[in-house]
Amino acid sequence: MMGPSHALSGAAAWLAGCWALDHLAGYGQSPLAVAVGTTMCAGGALLPDLDLSGRVTRNQGGATVARTFGVFSLFVAEVVEKVSLGVYTATRLRRDPRRDNGHRTFTHTLPFAALVGWGTTELCVRFGKWAVVAIVFFTAGLALRGLFDEWAERAGWLIVTAAAGVMAWFTWLHLPGDRGYPLLGVAVGVGCVVHLLGDMITKNGVPILWPIPLGRRMWRMIGVPNAMAVKVGGPGEVIVLRTLFTLVSVLAVAGMFAPHLWHRFDLDTWADNAHWER
Ligand SMILES: [Zn+2]
Repeated sequence: MMGPSHALSGAAAWLAGCWALDHLAGYGQSPLAVAVGTTMCAGGALLPDLDLSGRVTRNQGGATVARTFGVFSLFVAEVVEKVSLGVYTATRLRRDPRRDNGHRTFTHTLPFAALVGWGTTELCVRFGKWAVVAIVFFTAGLALRGLFDEWAERAGWLIVTAAAGVMAWFTWLHLPGDRGYPLLGVAVGVGCVVHLLGDMITKNGVPILWPIPLGRRMWRMIGVPNAMAVKVGGPGEVIVLRTLFTLVSVLAVAGMFAPHLWHRFDLDTWADNAHWER
């Protein structure tokens, strides 16, 4: 899937999860806490593609997350790609093909998602609000780059970085610093998993079973059958899936916060009266 679909699917997954927590478990969150988690999940849903380094990017063209923070993220992407290739080569079995590029390897596995989620939780517990603000900055940049890929391409990385900075600053001003935010690690981890699912419904698949060997292969690419695969950038992705993700997001937000708005405007007592009259 393309950037906007990955980012939207991450946002939709987190908002739907927050709605479920609120309604089924009675775990309500402030609008800002929901927004921070949604940003991290949307950004996390782009994180695995940080293994597309500069060289690859130039070959493929288009907007990728590796350019979010200019040369800084291009450098990070180069390192991530090389480390992923290193993990691939070190754990490759006889039937696994030789590779000279690490795209869609280590960052597209469940252990990577777990590692990133655990790391985020550790940071948020140890450094509290500072860590939350720093991670908001990073993931907001990825999310903006992913969601508004054409705008981001035109605006350039400085504008994207500045916009992410504003979001981080807003979080710093308004987020209470007297508590931990253990759910945020879950947000980033879930974002990565949602990315894997998104890649699995396209033709290439991801090595979702790693590190479980299967038929002398450790890095088997697994996805839906080709006949069912969603065409990258086709109408199934751009129209059907993106509309679905947007709808889920809007309904979840309405389900969480519209009742409070009703209460504020005293519409619910009015609704109750209407109910009694019937
Ligand atoms: Zn991917």
